[in-house]
Amino acid sequence: MSNGGPAAIGDGTRVVAAGRRKEWTQGPNQGTGTVNPPVWRASTILYDDVAALRANNAPDTHHRLFYGRRGTPTQWSLADALTQLEPGAEATLLYPSGVAAIASALLAVLSPGDHLLVPDSAYDPTRSLANGLLKRMGIETEFYDPLMGAGIAALCRDNTAAIFLESPGSLTFEVQDIPAIVAVARARGIVTLLDNTWATPLLFPAIARGIDYTILAATKYVVGHSDAMLGSVTAAKGRYDALRTATYQLGQCVSPDDAYLGSRGLRTMALRLKQHGESALTIARWLKGQPGVARVLHPALPDCPGHELFHRDFKGAAGLFSVVLEGGGEQARAALIDGLEHFGIGYSWGGYESLAIPIDPQHVRSVTRWEAPGPAIRLQIGLEDSADLIADLDRGLARFRATA
Ligand SMILES: *Cc1c(COP(=O)(O)O)cnc(C)c1O
Repeated sequence: MSNGGPAAIGDGTRVVAAGRRKEWTQGPNQGTGTVNPPVWRASTILYDDVAALRANNAPDTHHRLFYGRRGTPTQWSLADALTQLEPGAEATLLYPSGVAAIASALLAVLSPGDHLLVPDSAYDPTRSLANGLLKRMGIETEFYDPLMGAGIAALCRDNTAAIFLESPGSLTFEVQDIPAIVAVARARGIVTLLDNTWATPLLFPAIARGIDYTILAATKYVVGHSDAMLGSVTAAKGRYDALRTATYQLGQCVSPDDAYLGSRGLRTMALRLKQHGESALTIARWLKGQPGVARVLHPALPDCPGHELFHRDFKGAAGLFSVVLEGGGEQARAALIDGLEHFGIGYSWGGYESLAIPIDPQHVRSVTRWEAPGPAIRLQIGLEDSADLIADLDRGLARFRATA
């Protein structure tokens, strides 16, 4: 089990085995060990003598004790596990949140004077980073239509250093033509970074598909229980040095307790994702036929822009999608959401519990237009029974129609 085994083993087996190196689980008495790598809490690392102190100070201290900020076996185990889930990857580093992972990866590859391409459907804090800190650093961001595939070549300039991707897009779930965009980037020596939080490496193995840096808000499906913040960046072969250097300089690190919760969550991620995906698809299909529902933005359904690319490129669907309502306004939408019994009202997603939030994509677009016949809602489908969630949504839609 020490190195995750060959890629041919199943997803359940892979997440159970990943990152559990013998050297990180072995006990003080020979021939024993714990199942989970324990929580190593540390700032100071003690060295036996000056020679040992000098010997352990290396530019890359991944997998060796040096100083608490550079991690302990608890963080390395989770990082290694995520690397093992991405065939072709060199290494993974952890961050205190998904946003910190996105910021660190972009700062690792961009310099003043560079041009950056970001999809118009990107997660709002990614837009905010581009329009704020990156702009202040002299990096110019151009937002692009997420449905632009090979056509992105027309936007590439001599100083285009990176293309950021997020597929499906936040809130509106546009599926991008990742292979076409990767081909354009590779031909021009442009770095690609993908926010792969929705699919995870289990539904879209990004590095194997040619992405240079794949980013997860591990807060979502990796942690899986809505009780810790965590991010990760996995680098393709040859891309790790730049990431490590920037990450060390920025002082990014993760507590061993949070890394432990990430590892704990990861063990059931394949199982959870399968159930989230199955229930979400059942519910999305049911919603599609209901009065009051205009469109269901689920990548596996034809209402969703780019859904044919989803069927071509992804191994399955996750548990997050949106619904566009027919007519009605703010009040009718609130009547639907407020009375839900099994859906919490709150940000984030990927935990075991269902969530519903109002979304207003028109406020976070600059080069594409969001047009809809009514308000929209984003649903995170949890691990409750889908029949109970459908009954809840059925009552919610009745409230919506009565108010609209
Ligand atoms: C939540 C989210 C993030 C940010 O993750 P945090 O851990 O909340 O900082 C990034 N990208 C996407 C697509 C997300 O949904």
